[in-house]
Amino acid sequence: MNAPDAEIVSIRGRFVSVLCPYCAGVHVHGVAPGGPRTEHHAAACSPYHPMTPEARATGYTFTTTTHDN
Ligand SMILES: [Zn+2]
Repeated sequence: MNAPDAEIVSIRGRFVSVLCPYCAGVHVHGVAPGGPRTEHHAAACSPYHPMTPEARATGYTFTTTTHDN
């Protein structure tokens, strides 16, 4: 299963808020400095959101923009 793309909502330093393709919520991930780069993260949905463990582990990808802090 290929990970879907998550839309970036906002970037604050090393923390990126993305719109989750699974639950339509916003999840924040810490990313490595020195973008832009594409990162893959496990879905950070609420434990109460119904989804399979496979989908949670598949997660999503997003591409950061260059940031300098
Ligand atoms: Zn989610």
